[in-house]
Amino acid sequence: MDETRKKTIKGIKIRSLNLIMLSISCILYIFLILATIQSMQQYNAMVATTDRHIACEEITALVTNGSDYLTEQARLYTITADTRHLDNYFTEAHTTRRRDTALEQLETYHSDDQTHAHLTDALDSSNNLMEREIYAMKLVSVAQGCDMDSLHEDIQTMPLTAADEALSPAELTEKAQDMLFGSSYQDAKALIMEDISYFVDSVIAYTTRQQAQSSAVLKQSLTRQQILISILFIENLVIFFLIIRLIINPLQIYVKNIKEDKRLEFVGSYEFKYLALTYNNIFELNAANELSLRHQAEHDPLTGLINRGAFDHLKQLFHAKQSPLALLIIDVDKFKQVNDGFGHEMGDRVLKKVAGLLEDSFRSTDFPARIGGDEFAVILTDLTADPKELVLSKISNINRLLTNPKDDLPPVSLSVGGAYSENGFTDDLYKKADAALYQVKEHGRCGCRFYDESMDRS
Ligand code: GH3
Ligand code: MG
Repeated sequence: MDETRKKTIKGIKIRSLNLIMLSISCILYIFLILATIQSMQQYNAMVATTDRHIACEEITALVTNGSDYLTEQARLYTITADTRHLDNYFTEAHTTRRRDTALEQLETYHSDDQTHAHLTDALDSSNNLMEREIYAMKLVSVAQGCDMDSLHEDIQTMPLTAADEALSPAELTEKAQDMLFGSSYQDAKALIMEDISYFVDSVIAYTTRQQAQSSAVLKQSLTRQQILISILFIENLVIFFLIIRLIINPLQIYVKNIKEDKRLEFVGSYEFKYLALTYNNIFELNAANELSLRHQAEHDPLTGLINRGAFDHLKQLFHAKQSPLALLIIDVDKFKQVNDGFGHEMGDRVLKKVAGLLEDSFRSTDFPARIGGDEFAVILTDLTADPKELVLSKISNINRLLTNPKDDLPPVSLSVGGAYSENGFTDDLYKKADAALYQVKEHGRCGCRFYDESMDRS
């Protein structure tokens, strides 16, 4: 193929386009995956902060319940002196440990120094309150004259002040009740709850800030995901459009062109254009070869006129056409003598000269043919009137030229028989022209006659 023509092909290469689209898709998908991971992280962070928020509320309730339970049991003991309340108290204080567990749990939450100090205060105050409760319960136990060994070791080990040891049982009980029901006890409890509330509020404020931050980042990454998905959608549309334009349409056009035996159009991607150029070159080559083969098959190699086969084909063609035409059958007179006297080669040159004169004398719509050794024929078509006179004059002119050669060829003459038909190439037309030719040969050759019915009789 012509290299310069190949170089002039302009168009998008599918391979390059594919690489570009693949790269864009990969980049977009990577960003999309990252945005999704970020969204998940922010979502998890939000869930964690929400959980912490809820946990804070629960812990506060736990502290309050645990604390209230201890107060309740301690107070009941001071009133009823029923040791079951004592047992309940110490089970809660040392085994269930709702208040302490909740406070310990709170310690694990994020806090600054100031907030943490409130929690420590709450813990200290809580311990102090417990001591106060145990002290009050010890006072009641002493007032009741309980066997100390059977009581909890915290009660046993709690020392009483000398002043309290001097008090009567009724005074001891009164003091104990005063310690747990007095306003100072309530104030101490309220202070603990205040410290815890302060701590919890600050933790909640912190988690709320965290939530707000996470939600802002989550919103950002969701927006990013939306944008990326939109771009991917547009990219898909572009790919779809390009596939149609660069591949599917050209393929359809090419299939249609090939079915219709046409050259390929120059459409689509670079590869399709390259294909079209290659195909068209082969197409042209084939067409040229076919033309040359057809020419060879239909033409006489010596004279270049159409041969006997093509002449027979024309006969059939004009048989069907039914339009006026004339047939001339031409034979070189005494041609054997030319061959014998001047050689076969000279004979060939004479045949070529005769062919040339026939071609020059008749119109392009007429068909001169070589149908035998020294035998020619002409089919005259597109006739508006009987061409007899015109043909006689043309043959007479050709014979004049042949009998008076200006070249080195020997003089020869033609005998011509003609027949005219108004209805195309009839079955008997050849016979009629041949009969006319016979008449010319019989009457001294070198001339032209048209068939008439009298020739049949002779
Ligand atoms: P007539 O006037 O009766 O036609 O006499 P003629 O000698 O021409 O006889 P005929 O037409 O029968 O002879 C044709 C001769 O043409 C016979 C053959 O040797 C010769 N011939 C046939 N083909 C060729 C050819 O291709 N080249 C040459 N040089 N001669 C050919
Ligand atoms: Mg002859």
